[in-house]
Amino acid sequence: MNILVTGGAGYVGSHAARWLARAGHEIWIYDNLSRGHREAVPAGRLIEGELADTAKLAGVMVARQIDAVMHFAAYALVGESVADPAMYYRNNVLGSLSLLEAMRASGVRRIVFSSTTATYGEPEKMPIREDFPQRPINPYGFSKLVVEHALADYAAAYGFGYAALRYFNAAGATPDGDLGEDHDPESHLIPIVLQVALGQREKLTIFGDDYPTPDGTCIRDYVHVDDLASAHLAALDRLHEGVALKLNLGTGRGTSVRQVIDACRRVTGHAIPVEIGQRRPGDPPELVADSSLARETLGWKPKYTQIEPIVDTAWRWHKSHPRGYAG
Ligand code: UDP
Repeated sequence: MNILVTGGAGYVGSHAARWLARAGHEIWIYDNLSRGHREAVPAGRLIEGELADTAKLAGVMVARQIDAVMHFAAYALVGESVADPAMYYRNNVLGSLSLLEAMRASGVRRIVFSSTTATYGEPEKMPIREDFPQRPINPYGFSKLVVEHALADYAAAYGFGYAALRYFNAAGATPDGDLGEDHDPESHLIPIVLQVALGQREKLTIFGDDYPTPDGTCIRDYVHVDDLASAHLAALDRLHEGVALKLNLGTGRGTSVRQVIDACRRVTGHAIPVEIGQRRPGDPPELVADSSLARETLGWKPKYTQIEPIVDTAWRWHKSHPRGYAG
């Protein structure tokens, strides 16, 4: 198939694009490089453009005879969304609607959308199932939920087939060390801990150790970025007119901040100095996926189920690219 990958120069998008290409699909990356990296895109595959440019998107879809879209392009930082909600509604909501309109105009009706755990807010029970109420607690979560609703309505009215894949904590890197996580500034736990191991930061601040969890630190479900990529491929195969898939992508295993740090100590052999800081606003104590629906629907099985091998792939990337894609 001919696939348009928005945000394909970003972290999850670049890994998925590689999987698509390896599976024999013709891929085109549509990215404005505001957060993505040119180096993460295969030669000759980048189309620089804005999501808001509906006419350009529609033109690309017609010219490249696009069969399906994978939509990764979005801002994805909770704190930033609280500080600047307009930026999140503009890019994530209006940008996605522009993309959907370009699809409608050019007759493309299949889309895989990057959704998120943040659409659930603070669920009362764990693990989280897809039929739990979606009550986001920040603009980022809302911006993604609005698009999920738009997709459902476009599916009903215009025959779109879609998959909304709700990622838990994307982590790790391709084992060959070519692609990895590179955010500026970095705010995610594993890259920050590994930057401490590389001597680029003095210590890690644990955002709160008084949560109602066994060791007092927040629990998350870290899922390898290549496992996310393989789920996208499987979802693509099942997209037909009117199909609506809403699936959690996680391992079902919860790992605390302290357990992540311990795994990083074991993998890197470095002492990781830590200090205890304030809780980060908007952090729920625990987020763990029940991903049995994705397993049943897609036949998907994450290859990485333990934190250590995930950290190991991330460590290879950070060691070989201490300044990210810049070298
Ligand atoms: N975290 C932390 N110190 C840091 C960065 C993150 O203690 O410097 C914690 C954060 O509070 C959360 C977990 O690590 O409980 C994962 O945070 P991350 O930002 O990686 O992902 P999120 O869960 O926000 O999507």
